[in-house]
Amino acid sequence: MKIGVPKEIKNHEYRVGLTPESTAELVAHGHSVLVETGAGLGIGAHDEAYRAAGARIAPGAAEVFGEAAMIVKVKEPQAAECAMLRKGQLLYTYLHLAPDPDQTRALLASGATAIAYETVTSPSGGLPLLKPMSQVAGRMSIQAGATALEKAHGGRGVLLGGVPGVAPGRVVVLGGGVVGFNAAQMAVGLGADVTILDRSPEVLERLATHFESRAKTAYSTRTRVAELIAEADLVIGAVLIPGAAAPKLVTRADLATMKQGAVLVDVAIDQGGCFETARATTHAEPTYEVDGIVHYCVANMPGAVARTSTYALNNVTLPHALRMADLGWQEALRRDKHLRNGLNVWNGQITCEAVADALGYDL
Ligand code: NAD
Repeated sequence: MKIGVPKEIKNHEYRVGLTPESTAELVAHGHSVLVETGAGLGIGAHDEAYRAAGARIAPGAAEVFGEAAMIVKVKEPQAAECAMLRKGQLLYTYLHLAPDPDQTRALLASGATAIAYETVTSPSGGLPLLKPMSQVAGRMSIQAGATALEKAHGGRGVLLGGVPGVAPGRVVVLGGGVVGFNAAQMAVGLGADVTILDRSPEVLERLATHFESRAKTAYSTRTRVAELIAEADLVIGAVLIPGAAAPKLVTRADLATMKQGAVLVDVAIDQGGCFETARATTHAEPTYEVDGIVHYCVANMPGAVARTSTYALNNVTLPHALRMADLGWQEALRRDKHLRNGLNVWNGQITCEAVADALGYDL
């Protein structure tokens, strides 16, 4: 199969659909890979690395979209990309169609078939092609919070790990799912005093078993959240109620009970945020202050570590890409119901119930 990798054109997107290593795997399976010149520069992979992996380098996106049977990307196709997609072609990428009627219309009009990373499922449950980005964001949240706690960044001047003779910083993690678990791992690794709150007894049990005495767990009630954030140096917002806006666990009035210069990192900002005072920020200007509390609310945290994120994403997207290339994507979809759950658009029609419901299309 001929596989195409265009350079991402969404603003500040530095990731790329295939790494040189993934390219080499596809080539070893007898497929040909066409990579747009400069597509890997954001992760430090030059055209030469792709050539060495057996790819051909295309001078522009038009050649990639024109020749490839399967396009592997990271972000949803922009208008210019939708215009280049065509009937019979497969697009394999993050789509997030539900809040995006314009993109959906353009994609349907192209006649291409589209598999969305975010709705592919796995036999063990969960959304395996989303998970690595939550792992990245969770781990990064502590790094971002530690930096924001520095005096020069508006924080209260606390080193999370403390030093011998000085107590470590207090970290409170709201939500102990993928983001929260990874945040807690990093905070524990730094030597911070860590408490994780969740409402699921199974999640609390798993966390307690994993961390033993290295982190505390607490059932998430309004009272417990209020008590813990009043003592916290760093609070990580990592709650998720699938399909719903994030619950507001910390109100503006709560900020008055917190220590001046404490830091809130709202990872759940892409679902509206779990702090009432949170609004989405960018990597260019990641923080702002409300009532003396520093807020970090970057909606696309993994973009800052494009190299790690690309490799983490390829670890989970490559097996499906290989199977679709080897079997033909129609046969791969027929054989694997979990991949089929990723199918959002087929032959000019929406095929994902949640997307059809959100945008008022018939299935
Ligand atoms: P997850 O489903 O693995 O975990 C969410 C946890 O929240 C669950 O354990 C759930 O029990 C818990 N929860 C729900 N209500 C709660 C409450 N009231 N109090 C305490 N805990 C509660 O989800 P995840 O993968 O960890 O993702 C968390 C959020 O981070 C999502 O909104 C996701 O979209 C977002 N995210 C953001 C970025 C970014 O760049 N900003 C990147 C990746 C993920």
